[in-house]
Amino acid sequence: MTLLVQKFGGTSVGNIERIKAVAKRIALCKEAGHELVVVVSAMGNSTDELTNLALSVSKTPPSREMDMLLSTGEQVTISLLSIALNELGISATSMTGSQVGIITESAHGKARILEIKTDRIKELLKNGHVVVVAGFQGTTLGTSKTAEITTLGRGGSDTSAIALATALKADSCEIYTDVPGVLTTDPRKVADAQLMTTVTCDEMLELASLGAAVLHPRAVEIARNYGIPLVVRSSWDNQPGTTLTSKEKRSLGKEGLELSKPVNSIELLEKQSVIGLSHIPDQPGIAADLFETLSEGGINVDLIIQSTHQGNSNDITFTIAEEDLKRTKLLCQKLIQRLGGNLTIQEKMSKLSIRGAGIMGRPGIAAKFFDTLSKSGINLRLIATSEVKVSCVINAKSGNKGLRYVSEAFDLKDKQIKINPTNICNGEPEVRGVALDPNQVQLSVINIPDIPGSAAILCQSFADEGICLHTIVQSERKYESNGKIISFTMNKDDRKNADDILIPLLKVWPQAYLEDGKAIARISAVGAGMPVSIGTAGRMFRALANANINILMIATSEIRTTCIVAENDGIKALKEVHKFFKLASK
Ligand code: ADP
Ligand code: ASP
Ligand code: MG
Repeated sequence: MTLLVQKFGGTSVGNIERIKAVAKRIALCKEAGHELVVVVSAMGNSTDELTNLALSVSKTPPSREMDMLLSTGEQVTISLLSIALNELGISATSMTGSQVGIITESAHGKARILEIKTDRIKELLKNGHVVVVAGFQGTTLGTSKTAEITTLGRGGSDTSAIALATALKADSCEIYTDVPGVLTTDPRKVADAQLMTTVTCDEMLELASLGAAVLHPRAVEIARNYGIPLVVRSSWDNQPGTTLTSKEKRSLGKEGLELSKPVNSIELLEKQSVIGLSHIPDQPGIAADLFETLSEGGINVDLIIQSTHQGNSNDITFTIAEEDLKRTKLLCQKLIQRLGGNLTIQEKMSKLSIRGAGIMGRPGIAAKFFDTLSKSGINLRLIATSEVKVSCVINAKSGNKGLRYVSEAFDLKDKQIKINPTNICNGEPEVRGVALDPNQVQLSVINIPDIPGSAAILCQSFADEGICLHTIVQSERKYESNGKIISFTMNKDDRKNADDILIPLLKVWPQAYLEDGKAIARISAVGAGMPVSIGTAGRMFRALANANINILMIATSEIRTTCIVAENDGIKALKEVHKFFKLASK
């Protein structure tokens, strides 16, 4: 007998007809002999409606009361679905998060799951019941603490489902939703988006964090870490949907289900060179010209960084393997003769990276990485971040020292330390999907002192307030008194708290100042085959240039290329990139 955890999202249980249809589907599955735990969301938009009710009473409702209110949404669905199942002759019992014993941290509105008690569910399953569990909620039940209702964050029912599947050692977790599975991009934005039959958890983690709202990133993180088979399918038909794959297979540890070690490994990549093109024209097509030229020359570019520009000029910095330096230099010199600007080259560099799931969703991790390096007296030349990897480019002579200190800081064992790893790709495409995130703002701190520790202090200060910085970019342009510039994006909602964090910091760095960027959209292409394909980034820049879209910021990491564009260009950019990589015509 197989144990399945099935989750039905808000639209799938949006009205009574749909609840009855879901009940029929579950009944068929039960009659086919499966054991079933079903997780449901609140009906339709009811979480939004409840939020609006609270906001009509107060602009700043206490987070405890919000959790009390929002958790009622799911409670309506579990009871209605259980009633519908019993009506069909299927024994079903509904349970809230507290009744199950979904124990979470106490952070209201964004609590992480620590543990799930499985006794009551197992007992009910043994007695032949379908157990219907309220998604998105838990409780802070501790021995000394009083129990408080918590919620996991918007979209969190996916996380409830996969966490339950992990705790129950289920055979599979199936997420039923209003689309056929994970598509190459959001079908509401690009009509000809195609279904992916498979996607790796690492790719999905990037896509989910970059705007593909079909799965909660934390759900993907759990599936990835514990190797739980995860499928995303349509509630309306019996098509197979999308299967997520993961190579990891941890067992549940003491740290807490969602708190297991975030860093899996550290990598040192030696013999790197950093190429900087500064004061080149700021217009559509420049990045495309540059990276197409390099790709035609057979040069595989690793990190690419472009941050805010002043006036009409731009700086683009990238890294390559030392063996490609001579050819790269020649190609860049030719380009600069044509376009203007300066070329700088730093040889004898190394790239140090930490890798793990959901690194950027935990703001303290990148901060600790930067802080460890700064305490070892190592200055960071470049920074590149993604959901699954944070990289710093440092002087080669500091490489081994950095490797040692960071491994100790994250308690990594010898087998987790990788020196000059080769990129492995199992036939995955260079671009599997594209995502648009319109919910970010961009900020730059200009003229930060170029000494070890600046990036660490900046990231730590935000981490202390629970604010995640996304797309952190430190470019090479030097300002007055040799300062540097760090640009980053954050969720729009976090911007209002950013001043409280930055004002005291700017007092420590009196010469530094803050600049708010224009309204932006973040567009990203993700594919596990990207590290072994030459020229993917150049192709993405060409797609944008063809549509006359200017790129404000570029940040690449192993399996993704992200461009920040003006907010108004967002949807157009998404469509162009989707088309350019032929994602619609497979
Ligand atoms: P549920 O209520 O079932 O949890 P969500 O609204 O949270 O559903 O997620 C499904 C929605 O995610 C789809 O309707 C679609 O518009 C959106 N979406 C965004 N990106 C993607 C993508 N890459 N693939 C599929 N759906 C996507
Ligand atoms: N009902 C919650 C929300 O709308 C949780 C979920 O549906 O996943 O965010
Ligand atoms: Mg959802």
